[in-house]
Amino acid sequence: MICTCERCLYTFETAFQPEQCPDCGKFAVRTATTREAGEYRRIRQELARDEQSSPWYRQASPSRLAYGL
Ligand SMILES: [Zn+2]
Repeated sequence: MICTCERCLYTFETAFQPEQCPDCGKFAVRTATTREAGEYRRIRQELARDEQSSPWYRQASPSRLAYGL
């Protein structure tokens, strides 16, 4: 499932919906809307392209990497 944080709008894919946002730590996580889930998948595809052209990209964002972004 794809979840979004109400506070920081961080969107992430997860097997189980956590109570706490993995990005900002607030207890404001809800299921992503269809639009948000679509946006999430689009961004993931763009990130995948960036990583192919820039091997250092993942190291530039270690906190995102920890959650699979
Ligand atoms: Zn958050």
